[in-house]
Order: sequence, then structure tokens, then C-alpha cells
Amino acid sequence: MKVSHWLIPLALATAWPIQSLQAQTQEASTQAPKLVVSIVVDQMRADYLTRFEDLYTGGIQTLMSEGESFINAHYSHAPTYTGPGHATIYTGTDPRFHGIIANDWYDASLKRSVYCVEDDQVTPVGSSSDAHRRSPKNIRSTTWTDELEWATQGKAKVIAFSIKDRGAICAAGHYGDAAYWIDSDAGFVTSSHYMDDLPKWMMRFNRSNAPSSYMTGSWDRLLDVSHYDALAGPDQSDFERVPKGAKSAAFPYDLKAMQSAYNGAFKSTPAGNTLLVDAALVAVKAEGLGQDDITDVLAISFSATDYLGHAMGPRSQEVMDMYLRLDLDLKHLFESLDLLVGKGNYLVTFTADHGASDNPMQAKADGFPAELWAPADLEAELRVLMHQAGIDNDKVLNLSNDQIYLSSREQNLAVAVRNAILGHPAIAEAWTWEEIRLSPDPYAQLRRNGSDKRSGQVFYALKPGHLAYGPTGTTHGSGYHYDSHVPLIFMGKAFNPQAMHNERAYIRDMAPTLSKVIGIASPSACTGNPLWVSPANK
Ligand SMILES: [Zn+2]
Repeated sequence: MKVSHWLIPLALATAWPIQSLQAQTQEASTQAPKLVVSIVVDQMRADYLTRFEDLYTGGIQTLMSEGESFINAHYSHAPTYTGPGHATIYTGTDPRFHGIIANDWYDASLKRSVYCVEDDQVTPVGSSSDAHRRSPKNIRSTTWTDELEWATQGKAKVIAFSIKDRGAICAAGHYGDAAYWIDSDAGFVTSSHYMDDLPKWMMRFNRSNAPSSYMTGSWDRLLDVSHYDALAGPDQSDFERVPKGAKSAAFPYDLKAMQSAYNGAFKSTPAGNTLLVDAALVAVKAEGLGQDDITDVLAISFSATDYLGHAMGPRSQEVMDMYLRLDLDLKHLFESLDLLVGKGNYLVTFTADHGASDNPMQAKADGFPAELWAPADLEAELRVLMHQAGIDNDKVLNLSNDQIYLSSREQNLAVAVRNAILGHPAIAEAWTWEEIRLSPDPYAQLRRNGSDKRSGQVFYALKPGHLAYGPTGTTHGSGYHYDSHVPLIFMGKAFNPQAMHNERAYIRDMAPTLSKVIGIASPSACTGNPLWVSPANK
């Protein structure tokens, strides 16, 4: 934590509730760990835990056998994307209050789309690319990692890693020491929000562990093909997209050739996960994480699972193999932390930012109700319906994130648009902004939780299994079970090993749970509930 971070913009400082300011010291908590290891696996569906359970022998197996599991954990907002998911994990609230309503959203005043962690007031560090002008300024609430910094006078060390900038930035919050993300050429980079120069250990790491250095040899199945045929189906399918840089969508993959063809190819391979674990362990040693009684934080968001998941879908042998290899990377991480920090001295949280749908054409071929629209076609067809209903095209500013931005908040216009688009066969439901505000319907509430003043005036949900996407691979974003249901496991001495909870839990409950275990205030806009009861109150 560098001192300048404490020069908080006045508006933000005064907006924080009194409770944050009062929590100036980390309350003595006998349960507080020396280190919290916060793991997010991008696009990990909850069923990846159970489907491959018998084949996990490493870190995922340890989490499942030694951790306390909430097997019915969901997001309480829609749309479900990486930015909103990570912000919810760390702020303990929905986009309604943390403000990260999507990865990108339309800004009517700027007349353009804005990216959730863009910030032209900061400069890149470790690279000269403007693509790394990134900060957490769009996150409207504190994170539990911010509250930890407040409570320890900035003495807690909070360091976050991800391939994606937003995966690291949401974890480090406003006042964390560092968020590192990947530039395909330069390696790990950050921005002037956090520091002026990369630390020496990170410069050394970037020299010795360039992303391309991980792309050697071939990537083939870890286990016998029979396991994959049984749990994922055939390797070759019409519903997979060739990963960028590869020549086909089948094992084995020539990693060096892939990387030569495309410098970001490592992002869609297991190398993208191994790279993060290696960097994180160097940080633990170099920064002395978990070496004193003040709780530190190591956050890792594994992004390769999302890049590969988008290309291949949940029923691919490649995605299955990546999880089996992530299991081994996590084994290496936990065994190393046992030595560096001490078994029992660190707490692990394990979750995902969203799930993923099946490929609609694959589902349809198997007889399931599913349909696919090219995104541009869906928008054009919705615009035709609105035009036919007498709505002037000039009044429809933008369609994005299952929302329609209109030229005014006039209720009659929103109702007319809602009625018009309900005529489209892909659309299951549509609501005006007024309706999602007032409706007790849980699906309207998902949209309410997922929206704020940055959102449009009309909201819609496609039917289950329906996607606006390309013909191969898959995506996520709905409020349905396949996108909202994710793993949620806590492992550490404060939790009950092997306890399994069936009742519904929400990912927004993670931050207040950790706040309670550590003994700090919950984030400023927290709406979740602690899932942990201190032994004294049992
Ligand atoms: Zn994604």
C-alpha cells in the first residue's frame, strides 16, 4: 500500500458509511488467517466440480474434501459477465450498488461504449500500450480488501493476479497494493493507480517467465482418452471453434506453433493457468505474504478457462483437460503455501465469476430446446419490431447487455418498446426500468440487481438455451442456472472441513463472510449475509 492511495477523492470518502471509518483497527479475531488466497476460475460452472470429481487428485480434490462447500451458490444479478461477477465477489453486493453492470456498457453522455476498468487518467506500468490505462475508478463501493487496508492502516498486503485486467483490478479494490494482468508481449503489467514502476522481482519474472516460454512441447490429454469420451464426448465436433493460433480443434496441440502464429495463444491453453500460479508464488516470497499476524491477500483469477470455454464449450475434451490440469496447478500452489506460509495459516476461497451455456446448436442437435441468433441479426430484428410499432429509430440509442437504451426515461416509450420486442421468438420476458424496480418477481429482481443508472430503459431475457453468439463455442450472460450457478468453497481453520450446505447461497455473501472471519467491517455497499458464524456465537 503506497501512501498516496490514502489521498481519497473527497466525494468518495464522504460517501462511505460511518462503519468503515470506525473500523480503523483489525479486531482481534482468533480466526483471522495470515493469508487469504482468493481463487476465481473464470467461467467455471458448478457441475465441473462434480462431473470430473473422480478424476481430481490435486488442489480441487483438496478443496472438495477439506473445504466447506456451498453447493447451491448463485449470482443474484443478470447479466452474468466477468466484470460484474468479480466486482460482486469483492464488494459483497450486486451491480445495482457496485456499478459494474457489464464488461462494457453504453454511456449516453459520451455516446460510446465504456469499458469497466478503463481510466485515461492513469498510465500503463510495464508496457507503453494505452490498453493498460486501467483502474478501479468505476467501482462505486469498497471491497473487502479495501476494508482490510483501512483496518490495518494500509499494513495488509493485497496483491492480485489475472490474465484479464478486470479479473485482478476488482480484487485489489481501490486501495490494494497491486493488480497485475497480462500483456501478451511484456508479461505482467499494471498501471500508475498502483505504482510507478514494476517491482524488481516482477521485472525479473517477466524476463525469465515470458508467456511464450510456457508454450513449448505439445498439449495432449492428461489421462486416457476413454475418460474424456465418457465425460465430455468426442474430441472432434462441429460445435467447437479452433483456438486462436491452432490449426484444428483437436488434440494434440503444438504449443510452440500456436504461440508463433498468435502471441496471445497461451491464454487459451493450460499454460495461462500455470503462468499465474508461478507468478503468485514468486510474489508470496518476494513480498513476504502471510509472514506476520496482519492478514494479507493473494488473489488469483484464472482466465484461460474462459478463453478456452468460449472457443470449445462445456462439452469439449479440451475444457475437461484444462480443469484436470488446473487441479494439478492448484496442488502445486497449496503445497508451496504449506511450506511458505504454513498449513492452517492460510484461508482459501474458491468460486467463479459466472458459468456458461451449452452451445445452442449442439443442444438442439441432441433434441433440446435451444436456438442461436447472430448478435447483429437479433438487433436488426428487434429494431424492425420497434419500427413496426411506430417507434422512431432515433429514439433507440443502443442495444447491449440485454438492454435497450432509449432517448428518454419516459414510461410510455419504454412500455411501447417492451411490448414490441416481446413479439420476437427469442425473447422470453421483457420489462421496463419501472417494472424491474417495482416487481417482486425473482427474474425481474435479477435484472434490478444487475442494473443501475448506467443501464438502459428496457430489459429483456432470451429463452433458456438461446444465445446471441457465433455458431461455434459458447458464451454466458443470462440469469439462468447454467450461468448463475458456480462453485463456492471456503477452506481454512475457521471453516468446517467436509461440511456441505444445500441451501441457496449467493456470491454476494462471500465478502461479508470473509469480513467476519477476519474481523473487519464489511464493504461499504454490502448487501450479502455472512455464511459463517463465529464459534463464540454458535
Ligand atoms: Zn467469458
